[in-house]
Amino acid sequence: MTNDELWQATLGELELLVSKANFSTWLKETFISEIDAGRVVVGVPNLFTKGWLETKYHQNICKALENITGQVISEVIYRVESSRGRAAAGATKNSAAPKQTAAPAANVGDAPRVDAVSKGDSNLNPSYTFDTFIVGKGNELARAAAMAVADRPGQVYNPLFIYGGVGLGKTHLMQAVGHKILEKDPKKKVLYVTSEQFTNEFIQAIQKGNGEAFKRSYRTIDVLLVDDIQFLTGKEGTQEEFFHTFNALHQTKKQVIITSDRPPKSIPAIEHRLISRFEWGMVADIAQPDLETRRAILEAKCAEKSYKLSIDVLNYIATHVQSNVRELEGALNRIMANAQLKNEVVNVETVKQLLASLTNQPRRGGLTPKQVVQTVAGFFDIRMEDLLGTSRKKELVVPRQISMYLIREEIKASFPAIGMELGGRDHTTAMHACLKIAQELENSEKIRQDVALIRQRLYN
Ligand code: ADP
Ligand code: MG
Repeated sequence: MTNDELWQATLGELELLVSKANFSTWLKETFISEIDAGRVVVGVPNLFTKGWLETKYHQNICKALENITGQVISEVIYRVESSRGRAAAGATKNSAAPKQTAAPAANVGDAPRVDAVSKGDSNLNPSYTFDTFIVGKGNELARAAAMAVADRPGQVYNPLFIYGGVGLGKTHLMQAVGHKILEKDPKKKVLYVTSEQFTNEFIQAIQKGNGEAFKRSYRTIDVLLVDDIQFLTGKEGTQEEFFHTFNALHQTKKQVIITSDRPPKSIPAIEHRLISRFEWGMVADIAQPDLETRRAILEAKCAEKSYKLSIDVLNYIATHVQSNVRELEGALNRIMANAQLKNEVVNVETVKQLLASLTNQPRRGGLTPKQVVQTVAGFFDIRMEDLLGTSRKKELVVPRQISMYLIREEIKASFPAIGMELGGRDHTTAMHACLKIAQELENSEKIRQDVALIRQRLYN
């Protein structure tokens, strides 16, 4: 079997596992560049693709390769390479191989296409749209600004800076803009990144000598959504790069949307010149939802998930869970999980008890990574040393990934810190685990239940 045939067969397997849009964005233009004693080098068109394959599809790719070859694949690495060398070598029979007639190859990662940002693959959560965003007093200004930006990207408020406390809908709203713009013009390049992802990509690009390709790829974006910019605090090199990226996009009237947990001026250790840029456009805040909004959100979530709850119960929850929308959703989910588990009808009395036990728990801040790991180990009845160890058995891998996911979600620990907690693993392993579980939560009822139950244990 030639490398090409092998890869075509592997892609055939992968095609069954990932969505069509993801497949064409991330996998279609890849190829095998080298195989050597169980080590496979996959050529990818740009850094985005590399990052995504590493964090999201690595395991699938390894497994598919092993299935096809029937051999143990010891290592798969991804390398940015233009597919031109390959075309010249006559290795490609794929007539769809992209325009390769342009200028001579300058270096690897030449002509980076930001494939991450073609339609539907902008890193957006499909459910974060304007349709599912409930408007209320606390968020109407931010929503109006977001709608205006979605209608005329780059022309009204640039940047749009949205700030507010956790769980109030910043990420949802910023992604809604991305969806709307893509809906109107699927060719637009929209990219959602957290400032942590931006930082990681930047640092990796520099380390691997791909700084230029990184720069260029970011500069081809039409709409850049950067979430939780407060995490750029103190990272000077990344701030500098972000500053230049921002300027380049802004000058060419490309839309930038930024979120933060606080207004620009209150972000510590962020360069003054960046702060002043943030204030160029529109700064809009999202405040806590009022009672009416909380009720409307609960109703919408119930309709979406086909939960049937009485008005009394909804009122009770809306009155007693006030802090933010995420808590509200969380309370609702726990109530439903509990009812299912115990097979009992939900009424005001049961909800009262459940919420009381929820609110009497120590604040989330009190939870430590160690507690999460212990709880997960206890839940799956496995030993801590196995959970933290190196065995790749599925019975251990999944709990390990769930631990990382929960530490991330509940404690907001950084990826390197999570890796350390889980027996000194690499931060990319932690990133991969979190993505993986987030994906599984969509697909697997079992994982969903396990995670819900572990969460209950964490707070009980
Ligand atoms: P933030 O980024 O501000 O921390 P998110 O955007 O992640 O908050 O929102 C937390 C959760 O609450 C998400 O599931 C989101 O869909 C939901 N949510 C937030 N605000 C609203 C709203 N106004 N209408 C519907 N759902 C909302
Ligand atoms: Mg957010």
